Amino acid sequence: MNDNVIDNKKDIKSMTLAELTEELATLGEKAFRAKQMYQWMHVNLVRSFDEMTNISKALREKCAANYQYTDLKVVQVQESKIDGTKKFLFGLSDGNVVESVWMKYKHGNSVCISSQVGCRMGCKFCASTLDGLERNLLPSEMLDQIYVIQQLTGERVSNVVVMGTGEPMDNYDNLLKFIRILTDENGLNISQRNLTVSTCGLVPKMEMLAEEKLQITLALSLHATTDEKRKKLMPIANRYSIAELMDTCAYYFEKTGRRITFEYSLVGGVNDTDEDAKELIALARPLCCHINLIPVNPIKERDFVQSEASRIQAFKNKLEKNGINVTIRREMGRDIDGACGQLRRKHTQSLQTMEEGVRA
Ligand code: SAH
Repeated sequence: MNDNVIDNKKDIKSMTLAELTEELATLGEKAFRAKQMYQWMHVNLVRSFDEMTNISKALREKCAANYQYTDLKVVQVQESKIDGTKKFLFGLSDGNVVESVWMKYKHGNSVCISSQVGCRMGCKFCASTLDGLERNLLPSEMLDQIYVIQQLTGERVSNVVVMGTGEPMDNYDNLLKFIRILTDENGLNISQRNLTVSTCGLVPKMEMLAEEKLQITLALSLHATTDEKRKKLMPIANRYSIAELMDTCAYYFEKTGRRITFEYSLVGGVNDTDEDAKELIALARPLCCHINLIPVNPIKERDFVQSEASRIQAFKNKLEKNGINVTIRREMGRDIDGACGQLRRKHTQSLQTMEEGVRA
């Protein structure tokens, strides 16, 4: 049953259709009402009970008294002049902010969403984790990012990637509920195959996800080919070894039949040598996987640099020559605060500076 609660009220948009039906039955409502309301929330994407015009005023008022209806405030929008990518900073009901990105591709529109406010994984090159974890996002707050963007742009979202701020597997139950609702044929009905979830590699959660036998794409942030090197970039590597991760990826493929994606951020002089490429080939070969090379996006708090363009190309060529399926991630929105968590961080810091100014 739905146990997401905000201000002592149950969060209605985080309920699956079955849960909503059960919930409204306690108010004496028939199943078809639940279906109507679910459609208002997850197909018509209305932003309040008041917009549900075929629901009686009495029921709308009862719902408003009993349930929380989440919505996002648009705090800031940045649009790239290069490729039309839009970055949104959204305000949540408790005053926290999260960022989401809208990208236009030939094959459709893609939205990258956040799964947590902040992050506690501590990856060294990532801006989202610098201030730690504030809280998990509710399923509704993950859905809202997509719903509000679809409304604001007026264009259908066809692909979703959970690659914004946060570690989705660290918010596992809410993530799963989010996936169920987003891909429900009674809702926005986004194909599971058009949904990618990226993880730094929480092995037990990856195993649990495998059991769900979903058709989503699982992306593993690998970034290094030896435990020693990975530990320098990602604290989670102290917990789970690369050998364990590879076994888990094989298990995931066996259970779901879905090819895994390895994300590999190329950091100049750190993980981009021919030797690294050779080791990456050895890891990738036994698995059915795809490698996505990401030129690291430098953040000002750390001194990591991007690999030279020629090095990136040479790295890719070496993988390709060895029969590995590889792409280099196109940098979208390079002229706006592109790297994960940079926009939110800039916003929070400027608020802090303003508050300090007021106190002084
Ligand atoms: N926590 C999840 C998803 C969030 S980040 C994960 O770790 O996978 C999405 C991807 O961007 C991850 O592969 C992450 O390691 C990478 N990333 C984060 N900051 C980056 C940066 N500054 N440059 C390049 N890649 C970065």
